[in-house]
Amino acid sequence: MPDAPEPGDLKPGDLEPGDHNTPKAEYTLVYPVWSRRAGGLSIGINLNPGKECNWACVYCEVEGLVRGAPGSIDLEVLEGELRSVLSDAAAGRWREAGRDEPAAVRDLCLAGDGEPTLSPDFEAAVEIAAGLRVEHGLDHSSKLVVISNGSRTHRPEVVSGLARLQAAGGELWFKVDAGSSERREALNGIRNPTDRVVESLVVASSTVDTWIQTMAVHPHADPEGVARIVTQAMDQGASPRGILLYGLRRPSHQSGGKDLKALSHDELQAGAEILRRETGLPVRVFE
Ligand code: SF4
Repeated sequence: MPDAPEPGDLKPGDLEPGDHNTPKAEYTLVYPVWSRRAGGLSIGINLNPGKECNWACVYCEVEGLVRGAPGSIDLEVLEGELRSVLSDAAAGRWREAGRDEPAAVRDLCLAGDGEPTLSPDFEAAVEIAAGLRVEHGLDHSSKLVVISNGSRTHRPEVVSGLARLQAAGGELWFKVDAGSSERREALNGIRNPTDRVVESLVVASSTVDTWIQTMAVHPHADPEGVARIVTQAMDQGASPRGILLYGLRRPSHQSGGKDLKALSHDELQAGAEILRRETGLPVRVFE
């Protein structure tokens, strides 16, 4: 996932922009990161501690990614860790470098080291995050976000979790990286027919506020194709709120990732313009 965590040691009180380090010694399922996506402190929830994913994106930054699905997590551990991190954040444990005031929590985010909707505990984790967000008085000041590859949003058990997300005022970020199944296979390491993507996007966006997230990277960037499939889904009833266009920021940890190159500022902006023009949706760019 873009903005998924990386292991390391977080330095209390000093969180740098671009610092995605995780206090692994303290927590197993929860991690505070400085997120370009959130524009500040994001509290991540990792339902894939074994780094399992059903995709193998060529740009994936998860080191040691394994193909598969995670087992159950200990929900009491998740709740305890999340409560502890939120209490630490409220007590001012983390600051943006160079500033005195504590960093405010910008969002709670289910992303982690793999696809979160693969977890048998997905809905329960949404429930816990939603509850603690209210308990800590963050429901009006922070977002609740699920970052997903979108491959399972048509499944009843996932739809149920997405409905809970919507009830909590949360949003889903749904990955669409290319327009054809061949190009998606080159990028995502999985054959994912266009009809299935369209169907999943229609179901997801009719269940929860949904944003398209798309990675644009040399030599695979395909804004015309992404615009085409999003438009096709909208013609069939999908109602995405907008598109989040990512450039490559951190190195891929996958074997095929060494040939990837970040797009320039102008190339990303040109891609954003294509997406805006062809879909009529708002587009935000994260370089
Ligand atoms: S969907 Fe892609 S980027 Fe996200 S964890 Fe899986 S392989 Fe990595």
